[in-house]
Amino acid sequence: MHLLYVDDSGSVGNASETHFILGGVAIFERGIYHVIKALDDVVAGFGLGGNPHDIELHGNEMYNGRSNPWSSVKRSVREQMIKAALNVIVTQRSAIRLFGVAVNKAHIAPQDPVEYAFEEICNRFNLYLRRSNNREGRSGQGQRGLVIMDESHHEQPLQALARHFRVNGTRWGSLKSMAEVPLFVDSKASRAIQLADLVAYALWRKYESQDGRFFDSTIPFFDSEGGVIHGLVHTKPRSPQCFCPSCMSRNSAPKFKAVTGDIA
Ligand SMILES: [Zn+2]
Repeated sequence: MHLLYVDDSGSVGNASETHFILGGVAIFERGIYHVIKALDDVVAGFGLGGNPHDIELHGNEMYNGRSNPWSSVKRSVREQMIKAALNVIVTQRSAIRLFGVAVNKAHIAPQDPVEYAFEEICNRFNLYLRRSNNREGRSGQGQRGLVIMDESHHEQPLQALARHFRVNGTRWGSLKSMAEVPLFVDSKASRAIQLADLVAYALWRKYESQDGRFFDSTIPFFDSEGGVIHGLVHTKPRSPQCFCPSCMSRNSAPKFKAVTGDIA
């Protein structure tokens, strides 16, 4: 079983923000313990006092430092802490694939950006599962996927939406590789959801504020094959031209359409 932990960044209703973001961290079941342990070790290493298990990794709060325990930490140190937590993606790379969707809200209006981004990330994950199962042959056959999200976000609409996708298919085809509708967990209790939050926040800084300091080190770990980054989607107007890894990867790879059309 592959688990895709998903969290969001950006407010759907805030017109001063251009983007809505979903970040996803896919972990094969056998790797989950090691990823969580690595994140726990990173948090313990912060030396913030108290029980490290009570400290939640949360990109927005760590970056802005307005709440405890981050308010007592210097900005430069907080940024190093975000980078240290994201570095678990590098140290645990054999177990992790990243997924991300950055939606320009005005561009897709009147579609709901949450629904749009959720459908995209489910499809990207489904495509990854199908590719991994095909590559691994008989031994990989039947590996299913499960989407896990923070319960505080969009739970009711996404439950219904996910059920609809699984039964009726998406714009690109059905999600046969999904084992269940998404499950929702408390982000305080799940380090893996917290890592997805940091990935979403890194994407948010990149796309909303042209700040790639957190995102850049994660680029190699988005799902990709043959030079095409399948795991990262940037939905935007045709102009101005964008040089983000997702847009660049598609511009140089005309076969991309054939790949997405392959979902049956
Ligand atoms: Zn782009």
